[in-house]
Amino acid sequence: MRMSQLFLRTLRDAPTDADVDSLRLLSRAGYVRKVAAGFYSWLPLGSRVLRNVERIVREEMDAAGAQEVLLPIAQPLELWQQSGREQLYGPLMFRISDRKDAGYCLAPTAEELITATVRGEYSSYRDLPVNLYQIQWKYRDELRPRFGLLRSREFLMKDAYSFDTDAANLRKSYQLMYDAYHKVFERCALNFRPVRAQSGDIGGDVNHEFMAVANIGEDDFVWCKSCDYAANVEAAVRRSPEPVAPGSQPMSKIATPDKPGINAVAEHLGCAASELLKCLAFETEAGAIGLALVPGDREVNEYALKVALGGVAYEFLDDAAFARFPRLPKGYIGAHNQHIEIAVADPSVLARTSWVTGANEVDHHVTDAVVGRDFQPTVVAPIVVVASGDVCPECDGELSVDRGIEVGHVFQIGTKYSESLGATFTDENGEAHPMVMGCYGIGISRVVAAIVEEHHDEAGICWPAEISPYAVHLIALTGKGATSEEVRQAAVAIYDGLNSAGVSVVYDDRDVSPGVKFADADLLGVPVQLVVGAKGLARGVVERKLRKTGSRDELAIDAVLGQYIGEGAKSRG
Ligand SMILES: [Zn+2]
Repeated sequence: MRMSQLFLRTLRDAPTDADVDSLRLLSRAGYVRKVAAGFYSWLPLGSRVLRNVERIVREEMDAAGAQEVLLPIAQPLELWQQSGREQLYGPLMFRISDRKDAGYCLAPTAEELITATVRGEYSSYRDLPVNLYQIQWKYRDELRPRFGLLRSREFLMKDAYSFDTDAANLRKSYQLMYDAYHKVFERCALNFRPVRAQSGDIGGDVNHEFMAVANIGEDDFVWCKSCDYAANVEAAVRRSPEPVAPGSQPMSKIATPDKPGINAVAEHLGCAASELLKCLAFETEAGAIGLALVPGDREVNEYALKVALGGVAYEFLDDAAFARFPRLPKGYIGAHNQHIEIAVADPSVLARTSWVTGANEVDHHVTDAVVGRDFQPTVVAPIVVVASGDVCPECDGELSVDRGIEVGHVFQIGTKYSESLGATFTDENGEAHPMVMGCYGIGISRVVAAIVEEHHDEAGICWPAEISPYAVHLIALTGKGATSEEVRQAAVAIYDGLNSAGVSVVYDDRDVSPGVKFADADLLGVPVQLVVGAKGLARGVVERKLRKTGSRDELAIDAVLGQYIGEGAKSRG
């Protein structure tokens, strides 16, 4: 492609509302243009990059035995009513109606439609397993679209769905996808981690998020510096500290006037927040009052608390609720409160000889409260939010908490959709069972943004070879001089030669200054730049610059083609 022909305008400055590096650079380099909040047009360079990610995903999905389909973007709302998810999605779903007032949505995902599709074709155990995928635009009417392509309202997604006869076979299908995802994200050159994630249901189906490590990520995740352990913050646990022998000092009450907060009390007593026992009051859906007990410097993992309660829903008391329970003085509740029906303690509560805690009386606390003597947990379970520096549950390594971008998700769903939508098969004995499903997503447009977040510098994008819109960026330093025509001819010969050899090349043949050409080449981010200039030409060489490292060397013009034959396979864009 000659740049004089390419539909491209690079921008000196990013749009003022571009709030992340990926959007700033993709906008400046002319890959995408914003159309409306959360909607973007992909211009020629952007389209090539998007297709490259698609191609990698398609190749790995096909290699894993999945079959590509293409479902409509507009789906009948009726399907969503059958699964019960119309309500769940609520305003997140774009809704449309046709001229007969029939309701449709712009698909945010496709579990319902794919289940209905398989239901209509397959009915025997002999048909299974099957895994179908599509690469199709999806829609979510985010309240606050932000971070450009990372949280947009329209996004390109690969969604796959496996159908099996039982849970054991589902695990095999799941593993195939899990392995394929590793290959996809390795080829996309992302620094990623598969992270254990909780499903929406307690007791949980197996599911993993693939997180690309990035400072601007929206999700925290926990990983071990010494082993493969990684989990999202909800699902993460730490190795709990060992219990210690309880203290023998008697509990004593002290005045802490107007000191309802952990930090205020710690400062007042001259002790660390970790010596105070945090007692968070909650009420279960059945109306029982409970306390969650954790050290004063730790937070309660709300999901883990629900698991500890056996899946019972609960809410922490707010001011209105506290007003209903005068025996629970907000800010001064102690673990020895007589009106508490359930006390869930983190194992670390057993790892101190005694605690400072509320006295269950306004303006007072107690010291030397001893677990087992002064208060008795009804449940001991890990309920603290894991923090950097905690000990890995699977080795003695140190855990770290980092930010990430969720680029993929693999999920063992089970029979939720096959039951609600009636996708059943008959077994060897003629008995009907719901098919057992898995679903597997990759945010393709989000992957493009995640790659830019990881692979850029101040001058612009640094594409990995397989993703780059072109394999080579050829620059001809033509000017007004007498040698200008020679330079142009040499560049055209290289351009034609590379094209014939199947190497994709963008050739800057524009009548602009060398400075503009160099700056645009760095901004666009093609991994290899070849520069043809009069001085080099006189010696029979061109300069080669690697975008990522900035390293430069010279290639004999005769050797350029030999060097890049075979490179074509890396960027077929
Ligand atoms: Zn570990």
